[in-house]
Amino acid sequence: MTSSEIRQHYLDFFRSKQHLIVSSAPLVAKNDPTLMFNNSGMAQFKDFFLGNGTPPAKRVADTQKCLRVSGKHNDLEDVGFDTYHHTMFEMLGNWSFGDYFKKEAIEWAWELLTGVYKLPKDRLYVSVFQGDEKDNVPFDQEAWDLWKPIVGEDRIILGNKKDNFWEMGDTGPCGPCSEIHVDLRPQEEVDQKPGKELVNADHPQVVEIWNLVFMQFNRKADSSLEPLPARHVDTGMGFERLCMAIQGKKSNYDTDVFTGTIRVIEELSGQTYQGTMEKSDVAMRVIADHIRAVSFAIADGLVPSNVRAGYVIRRILRRAIRYGYSYLGFTEPFMTKLVPTLALQFAAVFPELNAQRDFVATVIREEEISFLRTLGQGLRRLDQIIGQLTDTGKDTIDGETVFELNDTFGFPADLTALIAREQRLKIDEEGFQNALAQQKTRSRKDAASSASDWVDLMDADRVEFVGYDFVEADSHLVKYRKV
Ligand code: ATP
Ligand code: MG
Ligand code: MG
Ligand code: MG
Repeated sequence: MTSSEIRQHYLDFFRSKQHLIVSSAPLVAKNDPTLMFNNSGMAQFKDFFLGNGTPPAKRVADTQKCLRVSGKHNDLEDVGFDTYHHTMFEMLGNWSFGDYFKKEAIEWAWELLTGVYKLPKDRLYVSVFQGDEKDNVPFDQEAWDLWKPIVGEDRIILGNKKDNFWEMGDTGPCGPCSEIHVDLRPQEEVDQKPGKELVNADHPQVVEIWNLVFMQFNRKADSSLEPLPARHVDTGMGFERLCMAIQGKKSNYDTDVFTGTIRVIEELSGQTYQGTMEKSDVAMRVIADHIRAVSFAIADGLVPSNVRAGYVIRRILRRAIRYGYSYLGFTEPFMTKLVPTLALQFAAVFPELNAQRDFVATVIREEEISFLRTLGQGLRRLDQIIGQLTDTGKDTIDGETVFELNDTFGFPADLTALIAREQRLKIDEEGFQNALAQQKTRSRKDAASSASDWVDLMDADRVEFVGYDFVEADSHLVKYRKV
């Protein structure tokens, strides 16, 4: 089954269960000051759970573009090093707004996984919330009783509050979750150790694929729980992980979601992807992952900049550029060349990228040109610094130096930290923040008199927010109208 078919089957399945299929919300969260990026399928429906607004239907399903690079969910550091956490990923989801509840959600999940996708039943485990006396939340007997005749007691795991209880915040809707995990190890390994013992243990082949959240309580300000008048279902399944399971692969990167992009990286670099922990393989995974996050973020209206969400995108892009430069020998723009493949691959499901692919490729190319101009020099300077530190037996790069690398060579602090970590060194994060704060005070004074309508991307430091309005581009300058 191809990844496109897998996605289509999901949507068709829930359509056949009377769900309305809706579009993904943009990656960049709109009208939600608490969220920078959409990081789960439910984010766009948050208001409905809070009782504000009416959902378009009582049953809804979709695939949502998610980005987990900031805040509560930040998986950036795992990317490249494990095989199943991405920055951007698709979350397949089905929702019930005060309509069906646990019985249907559980039975349909099982029907889809084992009946439609034909995942072997003896490789699936489910978790049920064990309860938490201290926090006044009960064991989810109902889910246990529903799962038991389906999978048998042996395949049910009890989960704690961290993994199996969902809350929107300190107060508000909340409820237990039931997750589905899949064991993809070779049979010999399964015979030696039951998969049940490896659930939620960071094993790369025993992974969580689907989270079913049952919203049934409202937490009040005095922290007591009351039953919600209308109970809801919110599910989220990692699409790339599902593809790995169905296609019988060991890694998300071995599925057809990523192989097209990896093939282009192989052609451009002249190296072959082996799927190991070697630097060049890590680099290919990072690049294949990051180009998606960056391309779709730009297509959804964000441009790399030095502030807020734009800076997150810039940092992700620079992280990938540095991996390519250091481990695959890319000294010229290369990320930009991956855009057409990606745009075509996703044209049917997320047409916004294909519709703007030249624009996206241009923005990425300009970012690459700008960063590559100083990257080599910066890396040499960093090597020097690291050499001096190790000579003197120190293990921390001081804040002023991290600031200098940022200011002079465009090295975001987390990039410096990443390179330092490869040499078993740390950075002084606090010192860096202090140096940065001082510079901000200085430049605010400078900028007070120059309030032009136009900003150059290369000089975006002083801009509060650079919006969507692309105006013109030549090889050295991309211009945007300030919004
Ligand atoms: P994990 O424990 O693996 O980090 P999670 O419990 O944080 O996952 P949920 O918030 O429950 O994830 O999200 C629902 C589903 O989305 C997960 O079951 C998983 O399949 C998928 N998912 C979560 N984070 C990622 C990611 N960074 N990359 C790819 N898929 C993800
Ligand atoms: Mg997680
Ligand atoms: Mg989890
Ligand atoms: Mg989960």
